[in-house]
Amino acid sequence: MAFETFRFDVDADGIAVAVFDVPGRSMNTLTAEALRDIAAIAARIRTDNAIRGAILTSGKPSGFCAGADLGEMGDSAGGDASLSEEERLRRAFENGYGFNRVLRELETCGKPVVAAINGLALGGGLEVCLATHYRIVTDNPRIQLGLPESKIGLLPGGGGTQRLPRLIGAQKALELIQTGNPVSPQEALKLGIVNAIAAPGTELLKAKDWIRTKGDPVQPWDKRDYKVPGGAPQSPGGSGVFTMGNALLRKTTYNNFPAQKFIMSCVYEGLQVPIDAGLRIESRYFARLLMHPVAKNMIRSMFLSMQELGKGARRPRGEPPTDVKKVAVIGAGMMGAGIAYVQALAGIETILLDTTIEAAQKGKVYTQGLLGQQVERGRLAQDKADATLALIKPTTDYADVKGADLVVEAVYENREIKASVTKLAEAQLGPRAVFGSNTSTLPITGLAEASVRPENFIGIHFFSPVDRMGLVELILGKATGDHALAVAIDYVKKIRKTPIVVNDARGFYTSRCFGTYLAEGQEMLAEGIAPAIIDNVGRMTGMPRGPLELADDVALDLAYKVREQTRKDMGDRYEAGPSDALIEAMVVKYGRFGRKNGKGFYDYPADGKKRLWPGLTDLVAVRTREADPAAVEVLKKRFLYRQAVEAARCFGEGVITDPRDGDVGAILGWGFAPWTGGPISLIDTAGLATFVTECDRMAQAYGPRFAPPQILRDMAAKGETFYGNAARKAA
Ligand code: NAD
Repeated sequence: MAFETFRFDVDADGIAVAVFDVPGRSMNTLTAEALRDIAAIAARIRTDNAIRGAILTSGKPSGFCAGADLGEMGDSAGGDASLSEEERLRRAFENGYGFNRVLRELETCGKPVVAAINGLALGGGLEVCLATHYRIVTDNPRIQLGLPESKIGLLPGGGGTQRLPRLIGAQKALELIQTGNPVSPQEALKLGIVNAIAAPGTELLKAKDWIRTKGDPVQPWDKRDYKVPGGAPQSPGGSGVFTMGNALLRKTTYNNFPAQKFIMSCVYEGLQVPIDAGLRIESRYFARLLMHPVAKNMIRSMFLSMQELGKGARRPRGEPPTDVKKVAVIGAGMMGAGIAYVQALAGIETILLDTTIEAAQKGKVYTQGLLGQQVERGRLAQDKADATLALIKPTTDYADVKGADLVVEAVYENREIKASVTKLAEAQLGPRAVFGSNTSTLPITGLAEASVRPENFIGIHFFSPVDRMGLVELILGKATGDHALAVAIDYVKKIRKTPIVVNDARGFYTSRCFGTYLAEGQEMLAEGIAPAIIDNVGRMTGMPRGPLELADDVALDLAYKVREQTRKDMGDRYEAGPSDALIEAMVVKYGRFGRKNGKGFYDYPADGKKRLWPGLTDLVAVRTREADPAAVEVLKKRFLYRQAVEAARCFGEGVITDPRDGDVGAILGWGFAPWTGGPISLIDTAGLATFVTECDRMAQAYGPRFAPPQILRDMAAKGETFYGNAARKAA
C-alpha cells in the first residue's frame, strides 16, 4: 500500500522505515493526509507479521516536521458560525481527538517504533515523536525541539500535555509548554525528551540497532510500576508544582491567555488518570480553546498574517522579483550598526558609511561583538562568523556606495543632514537603486524633496534593537513608486523581518498609536490615579511594560518637544489634554527628562532599582491608592480602546489600508497586547456597533480622544468588520 506523504520500505531484517516527505512542500506539516497516513502506518506495523519494528524519519533537509498545518487550523478556529455552539465544540473535539487516537494507536501497536529526528520537530511534529518508544536526534545545535503552540494561543493537542509530563515530570514539562520555547538536541537529551544523540547520517543505523538489541514496545506510562517523575499532582512534591505554578502563571500572564491556564489544567487533571482518559481531557480543552476568540485572533495575526506579510502579501502586483546584493548604510550609530549586522547575517555586502572612519569602524565592532557571542555559545562556527563580518566595509567615502542596490540612511534626525546625505548618495547610485530613510518622525514626502528621483525614495523604519525587533515599517511618500516598494519588501524579507506598508503621516502608524498608550497613562496620572496602579494596570492589559516607565525610556523632554511642535502645526485643531501641563512641569520646572538624566516619573539610583519619584504626589493630587477590581477593568479598557481608536483613525485616514498591517504592526512594533490579536482584531471581536457605542460613552466620560472616527460609524451601520471587508476585497 502506498502512502501520500510517506515513503515506506521494509528491510531484510524486518525493520520498516517510514520517511515523512509531503510532496510539493519544502517542510513537512501534519496535513489531513499525513494524519491518515500515520494511522495507516500504525495499522500496517501492527498487522504485518514481516515487520518487527519501525523507524519514523524525514526526507526533508529542512526538518522532521513543523507541526500542524496552521492554515487548515486557522480556517477551523471559531468553527462554522451557522452551527450551534455545542455542535461546533463537538466537531472541534472530534477533530482534535482524532489525532490523539492515531498517535495512541502508534504507541500501542505492539512493536518498537523509533523516531530518528533528523531536523527540527515542533508542535505536532514533536508530539508524533513522543508517541514513539525511543527518540534519537541528530547532533546539530541548530535543530529545535519544542511545543510552541501556546505562543499562538493554542495548546499541544496531540498528547503533548500528557506525554511530556509523564516523561520528564510536570514542572519541566509545564515550563516548556507554557513558554513554548524550543530546546536544542543536547538540552533535550539532558531533560530526557530524547533518548540518544547521533552524529549526522548515523541516525538510522542507531535506530535499527536499538530495535534489534532492546526494542521495548511499551511506553513507560503503560507499564504496571509507572510513576510520574517528580510525583503525581496530589503527592507532596507534585502539589507544590501546581500551587507555585498557578501563582507564577497569574503573575506572568494576568490571566489574559487562556491557553496557559488550560495547559495547567490538562497536566493537573491528566496526570491523575490513565493516559487514555488524559488524552480525552486534553482534547476537550483543546476544542474549547480553538473556539475561543483569543486563539482565533492570535493564530490569525501571529501566524497567518505574519507569514503572509513576510512572503510579500503587500508587494505590488506585476513587479518582477528583485534581489538586493549590496546595501549602503549611512550613519553607523545605534540603528545603522544594528542594520549592518542583520544585513551581513543575510549575506548582503554592506557599506557602512559615517563622517569619521572611527565612527564607521565602531559600527562594525558592534557586529563583531554579537557574532562573537554566538560563537562562544556554540551556535556559530568561527569561519562563518569571520565571513559574515567581512561583508561589512566601514568607510567615509561615497565612492564606495557605487553599485549599491539600496541605501538605508540612518543619520541624525535632522532634515538638513538627511537632505545632504541623500544628494551625496544619489550621485553614486544607478537609476534603479532605491533610497530608504530610517527616520522615525520626519514625513517621507518632505525628505524626498531632496531626492532627484522621489519615485525611488521610501521610508524603511526599523525598531530598536534592530537584531531583536522583527518588524520593519515601510512608509510610502506621495511619489514613492511600485519598484521602490517591491525592492524594500524583498530586502526586508531577505533580512528575515516582517514588513508592513503604511502611508505617510505624522508618526506614521506605529509611533502614533504607541504614543497614545503613553499619553493615556499620563492622562490618568493627571486625573489623580496612583502611578503604581497605572503602570501595573498597563502590564495587566498585556502590554509589555507600564506607560510611565516606557515614557521615561523614550524621554519626557522629547515627548514635550513633539507635543509643542504638534500644537504649533495643528493650531486650533490641537486637542489639549490634562497631561500637557503635567509634562510641561516635569520637563520645564523640574528638569526631569526620563531615564536619560536619571530623573523621570521614576528615580534611577546608580546603585539600585528604579523607584517612583516621591515628588509625583505633590505634583498631582493622587486620589486612588488602592486598586479596586472594577476600577482596574475600567483602566484596562481605556488603555486598549485608546490605542484601538487611534488605529481605526489611521485606517480612516488611509495611513493603514490592510488590517494585517494594523494588527501585526501593533504586536511586533510596540508590543500591543498580543492576546487581542491586535487593535483591529480587538474592534472586530468587540463588534463594530458595540465598540462605537462604548467609545461614544468613553468620549463623554474622558474626552474627545475616545471619539470613534466616521469610518467606524459607517462600518457599524452596515454591519461590517475590517477582516470581513478585506476578505471581500481580496475575493
Ligand atoms: P545615532 O546618533 O546613534 O547615530 C547617528 C549616526 O549618524 C552617528 O554615528 C553619526 O556620526 C552619523 N552621522 C551624522 N551625520 C552624518 C552624515 N552627514 N553622514 C554620515 N553619517 C552621519 O542615532 P540613531 O539612534 O542610530 O538614529 C538614526 C536614525 O534612525 C534617526 O533618523 C532616528 O530617528 C532613526 N531611528 C531611531 C530609532 C531609535 O530607537 N534610536 C528607532 C527608529 C529609527
